[in-house]
Amino acid sequence: MASPEFDFPDPFGPVMAVNPDWNGMDTSPPNDLKFRTSILTNRIPNPHKAVFLTTLDGKPHSAVLSTLSINEGAAYRLGGLIVITVFFLPRFNSVGLLRRTMGTASGIEFDVVIVGSGIAGLFTALRCTQRGLSVLVVTKSRISSSSTNWAQGGIAAVLDVNDEDAIEAHVRDTIASGRGLCDEEVVRSVVSEAAHRISDLVSFGVGFDSGVDGYHKAREGGHSEARILHSKDRTGAEIEGALEAATSGEGMSGLVIKEDWMAIDIIQRKHGDPLSGICGVWCLKSDGLVETIRGSAVILATGGCGMLYNSTTNPTVATGDGVAMASRCGADIRDMEFVQFHPTALEGQERPFLITEAMRGHGAVLMTVEGHTRWREEGGLASDWSYMKEYSPMGSLGTRDVVARATDAELKMSGESHVLLVTEHLDMDSLRDSFPTICERLIEQGLTLGPDPIPVRPAAHYLVGGISVDNFGRGMNDGKVIPGLYAIGETACTGLHGANRLASNSLLEAVVFAERCSEHVSEFILGADKIGDVPDWRAEGLSELIEHAPLGTDLLALRNMMTRDVGLVKSDSRLMRARRRVEHLENELETIWRASLPTRELVELRNLIICAGLIIESSIERRENVGLHYNIDLE
Ligand SMILES: Cc1cc2nc3c(=O)[nH]c(=O)nc-3n(C[C@H](O)[C@H](O)[C@H](O)COP(=O)(O)OP(=O)(O)OC[C@H]3O[C@@H](n4cnc5c(N)ncnc54)[C@H](O)[C@@H]3O)c2cc1C
Repeated sequence: MASPEFDFPDPFGPVMAVNPDWNGMDTSPPNDLKFRTSILTNRIPNPHKAVFLTTLDGKPHSAVLSTLSINEGAAYRLGGLIVITVFFLPRFNSVGLLRRTMGTASGIEFDVVIVGSGIAGLFTALRCTQRGLSVLVVTKSRISSSSTNWAQGGIAAVLDVNDEDAIEAHVRDTIASGRGLCDEEVVRSVVSEAAHRISDLVSFGVGFDSGVDGYHKAREGGHSEARILHSKDRTGAEIEGALEAATSGEGMSGLVIKEDWMAIDIIQRKHGDPLSGICGVWCLKSDGLVETIRGSAVILATGGCGMLYNSTTNPTVATGDGVAMASRCGADIRDMEFVQFHPTALEGQERPFLITEAMRGHGAVLMTVEGHTRWREEGGLASDWSYMKEYSPMGSLGTRDVVARATDAELKMSGESHVLLVTEHLDMDSLRDSFPTICERLIEQGLTLGPDPIPVRPAAHYLVGGISVDNFGRGMNDGKVIPGLYAIGETACTGLHGANRLASNSLLEAVVFAERCSEHVSEFILGADKIGDVPDWRAEGLSELIEHAPLGTDLLALRNMMTRDVGLVKSDSRLMRARRRVEHLENELETIWRASLPTRELVELRNLIICAGLIIESSIERRENVGLHYNIDLE
């Protein structure tokens, strides 16, 4: 009897096996047939639900099989053709046979291509691989070059799923911070799923600090309760490190990660027709060549666009690539006027270093330079000397929009370059134990946490808006799903944050939507149409970009303009001027783009200009001051 050509799932090795000898078969399979099977599952309480079989030419047989109830170790005859024997991995909810990574006439092919290796990208990659898909992660620098790696404060989560009061309080705080523009259904569902996602993170090896009754919980600005899980003041690095380590763990051979591969553009199934769906991405490699990657699903997890501003807490990779790529292929982009500035970035740094909000949760107080001098002379409660008393009933723990704008106003009035974050009234040992990373960083600046006030000022921090997605992270065109396009993490706009993100809700949002997306993608892939011919990157006639200087000048001009005219405080005339300038930059760039081979610098500038245009247009359209959007002409 002819032996079938099966693609064995390396990650599962001997644990799951398709019967290669066709024992028990009473019908011979066609010699040239290849199969991909997936066992899809519902999670608890009945984890094993349906078997799907797909020939490698893409024809699904799921309908015939979806009603099967399958048992571990049992052999089944599917469609009268094949017998498979199924074993389940105890650790995973779902297993499947992979279509292996294939070299194709044009480029390489994976089930799923994920762009970005922060919490959103890595978590989705791990879960998609566990679900039996072949996954490629491309990341434009090192794996850990991400905002995730820099997150300090933590991740907001109510861990007791039965504690309705605590869940309600988290929902309330999120909506209050979002100034009524949050999607309440999204808020409720994200907050309710937090406990499950925290246990997923822990199962991937993330360690959170413990406290008296389980995990230690910190409090941050805008939170009415202490509910932030953290790992000292380096929570992001703990998460990034654990997820990265998990990618080379057991069962992960279906996952490939390429560093220094930068996605340039999404490939549409039919160019110019968003609803035809997408079928891959073009990627710029470190050797300057462009790789065509075919994939039935592309998941954008590219983070924010803080590099649009002179002063930002973000890493240099945050250039809005996902938003720009999605917008070029017709995806709806929303809420771009809501750019969050963090009130307390350390002043005097070439690259601003964030002083986490958790320090204010710990009791640190914001004062002007003058206020601090007077407090030292006259004494009294530190909080009584904070300018924040005038701006928010929560004082220094007000939400970020309020604190950042108040600080900006105080700086404009005083002409100082910074305000002071004061901790000298707090217990030194507890401060140093809770914030070791910040402590070290301050020592490098000649400052001692505690006795020395910390000079801080606002810096661009987080993009609330982004690619408009549904509950599974699917991208939309005019409200209709773009088949195969997903966006998660900071690059996506889910409706959770409304007009202002509540502190420590972004890591939570990223991980919740990463899980939903991976679950949805696993089903989507089974029914996805075969990928036809995919064009290679247009390279003919393009020359190497010889002169990079104009790009540097344009980037500087763009960042200056965004900082001055489209920052914390906007006005109609400034927005109009910004619009004209961006149009000019766009035209300049387009000329270079059409004639040159892509470089990282060129691609990033192109994307930043697109994001700037989107922020300006949304800001012009928003005719009320709400949350992070503040226009003096709307007073
Ligand atoms: C200093 C700092 C502190 C923070 N603290 C907290 C906190 O305490 N709690 C909280 O909830 N949130 C915090 N945030 C926000 C939070 O860290 C981010 O929103 C979150 O980590 C975003 O995760 P992500 O996976 O979406 O994106 P990121 O972690 O930014 O990852 C984006 C990835 O995409 C890659 N990439 C981008 N473009 C391309 C391209 N074209 N091709 C290939 N790869 C690409 C990048 O290299 C990177 O790997 C903080 C942010 C900063 C900057």
